[in-house]
Amino acid sequence: EAARELSFFFPKEQTLAVIKPDALNEHKDEILGKIQEECFTISQMKETMLSKEMAEEFYKEHRGKPFFEQLVDFMCRGPCLVMILSKENAVEEWRAMMGPTDPREAQQTAPNSLRARFAKDILQNSVHGSSNQKHANEKINFFFGDITEELDRPLQGKEPELER
Ligand code: GDP
Repeated sequence: EAARELSFFFPKEQTLAVIKPDALNEHKDEILGKIQEECFTISQMKETMLSKEMAEEFYKEHRGKPFFEQLVDFMCRGPCLVMILSKENAVEEWRAMMGPTDPREAQQTAPNSLRARFAKDILQNSVHGSSNQKHANEKINFFFGDITEELDRPLQGKEPELER
């Protein structure tokens, strides 16, 4: 049923967005308000506590970097709010709303961005967003299971649900 409703919005783009533990406590409502102001559809949303293994997998492309361990610890420090955001050009638009990784840079170049307003430092930088469609699909799948195929499938082509 949810998939049917979602496919009504086809062919909007999807991205994976996360409100990180540093911002979820203090800035959840402001960030969600901004997401609605910018006309994203929140197709799926869940609050989740990442295990160390999940955080390592989520950020596997940074394995081996000097900040990898503190990044994993930080992401497990409290719950994250994980969302699928839908909109035309969702990947790029959400990245633009986030601003640069380092809030000092964000304050210079994108003073209205979420990171300029809410990030504490380059590590505790309040939000995550996929950098391209491939990563978005991969991370959507990581958090929400095998729903990407359903999201991409037009309504007429939808086969009857199998019993699981
Ligand atoms: P993003 O795509 O803007 O989130 O940046 P990256 O993919 O390069 O990095 C992933 C996350 O690792 C960032 O959002 C930060 O939380 C953290 N991070 C990135 N660079 C650094 C750094 O130089 N030092 C520390 N401590 N953390 C960093």
